[in-house]
Amino acid sequence: MIAIPCPGCTSVGSIRATPDMQFRCLECRHEPIAANLQLDQGEIWVVDASGILGFVFDPAESVREMSAALGEYLGADADSMGELEALRNFLDATYRLQGALKAGLPYPIAET
Ligand SMILES: [Zn+2]
Repeated sequence: MIAIPCPGCTSVGSIRATPDMQFRCLECRHEPIAANLQLDQGEIWVVDASGILGFVFDPAESVREMSAALGEYLGADADSMGELEALRNFLDATYRLQGALKAGLPYPIAET
């Protein structure tokens, strides 16, 4: 999970869910309005076991990126920069998938 910064004090990892279904910064007590918290496409909100708000990347997109990187790797010349870049892309997508799975999102069902 990637913790988000507080819009009030920029403290990272300090926004916690409250029992009244709101969010409050543990540092500055700012209460960000959920509708004003934006994510980029492919990012998904999560709240960890301690109630901290963050996001992970869509696991289905990570699996697609892993597949694409594998295709790039297999199509690259041996010992080339393309091969190294494909391996880096695969590794990055793997870390994003692991983050989503650790946050409790299910492994995506393969599209047919
Ligand atoms: Zn704050």
